Amino acid sequence: MADMTASPAPDSSQPVRDVAVIGSGPAGSSVAALLAESGHDVVLLDREHFPRHHVGESLIPAANRILDRLGLIDQLQDSSFIKKYSVQFVGPDGQESTPFYFDDFDPLGLGHTWQVVRSSFDRLLVDRASTLGAEIRTNTQATSVDFHEDTTATIWTRRIRKREGSLRPVRCRVVVDASGQSCFLANRMGLRQIDSRLRNGTIWTWYHNAKRGTGRDEGATIIFNSREHKSWFWYIPLPNNIVSVGCTAGTDWLFDNSLSAAEIFNRELSRCPSVAERLKDASQAEPFRTTRDFSYSSTELAGSGWVLVGDAYSFIDPVYSSGVFLAMASGEMAATAIHEALETDNTSAEQLGNWKQCYDAGVEKFRQLVYAFYDPSFNFSDFIRHHPDQRENLTELLVGNVFKPGVSGVFEGIKPMLTSG
Ligand SMILES: Cc1cc2nc3c(=O)[nH]c(=O)nc-3n(C[C@H](O)[C@H](O)[C@H](O)COP(=O)(O)OP(=O)(O)OC[C@H]3O[C@@H](n4cnc5c(N)ncnc54)[C@H](O)[C@@H]3O)c2cc1C
Repeated sequence: MADMTASPAPDSSQPVRDVAVIGSGPAGSSVAALLAESGHDVVLLDREHFPRHHVGESLIPAANRILDRLGLIDQLQDSSFIKKYSVQFVGPDGQESTPFYFDDFDPLGLGHTWQVVRSSFDRLLVDRASTLGAEIRTNTQATSVDFHEDTTATIWTRRIRKREGSLRPVRCRVVVDASGQSCFLANRMGLRQIDSRLRNGTIWTWYHNAKRGTGRDEGATIIFNSREHKSWFWYIPLPNNIVSVGCTAGTDWLFDNSLSAAEIFNRELSRCPSVAERLKDASQAEPFRTTRDFSYSSTELAGSGWVLVGDAYSFIDPVYSSGVFLAMASGEMAATAIHEALETDNTSAEQLGNWKQCYDAGVEKFRQLVYAFYDPSFNFSDFIRHHPDQRENLTELLVGNVFKPGVSGVFEGIKPMLTSG
């Protein structure tokens, strides 16, 4: 079991909080909100100040149930976020799949979820955690953790933007790492493993006045494959006539040191006429941003006094917009385990990580679907044509119902279509 070496005795003058959460994205805010609601003493740390920019704007309907549990559905219904009723796939030859509408698959019966601007959405979640009783400390970066023999831990924190030289301790019974792709604990413990089949990178930006659908198709996420399956684009309509457009491909194909992000993006756009056509009257509204090697997982989920949630544990790939849902779902599962741990005074790895098997099995379904998407022999239109009986199960997976039993039949149909067989 990976654990940090036992460290100096704790400063006994420090108060011991029940839980300290590092990172207040969707995973950290969810776990903090649910534990605070259960009456625990929770402190939520983030190195950023909110609102802050973040990639990942498209939700899937399975997130609705957790948002409802957090008491946020009315606020979302009243918000300016665009309603997302479906997802659609467009093949390299421009062939469009029938949209996968969420009508009968959304747990709340709304038939939609939302395309969100993450600066506002994440703020909503942090505010909710605060309202439910969590203490929020922004501009506060965790720099290291000491795990003590008395089973408490001390997180050492640094105030960002303040000229304070000294580190401040936060002592707690359970450390939750929700630091996203920074993988604060997994990196320090050497647990992070890149998925070698998904060495991808992304370049993305926002456009003003890009073409969008009408009626309930206005808010659809559309995934476009470029020619020869070399790259794909997301197309995510946002408020204020903005569309988020991102291009993802293998890092070897995508990045070229002699080209700027704009040049690479435009190179790929020229290979994807369906997107280029939608952008012909649009103007770029944000600088290009890039990221790479974002698909990985940690070999362990929990240890004595610590647990990982959201991207701090694993991330697959952006193609099915599963990240925010999985972050919140893992936050919810971890909250249940931590609550029991605190109630029974058992903060062992077994207790804090007792949701690993269930969670990993759900994530694995997304992973298999991601591998299929990147297989040049696979496309959704052909799959549905050959397996119309699997449309329902496939939609269940696309909306995020991956923890539901009985939806795996899809993979029997997908497997023979793949190059790898
Ligand atoms: C290219 C790309 C596109 C994506 N598109 C989508 C999409 O359309 N839909 C979707 O659902 N998901 C998408 N995702 C995934 C999604 O962005 C993440 O899965 C989600 O944000 C994970 O939430 P989280 O709470 O685990 O981490 P984050 O949201 O990343 O939050 C982590 C927080 O930790 C803080 N932090 C980090 N280190 C420290 C530290 N040392 N001390 C204190 N604070 C710290 C950060 O400031 C941050 O606020 C995409 C991801 C990528 C890479």
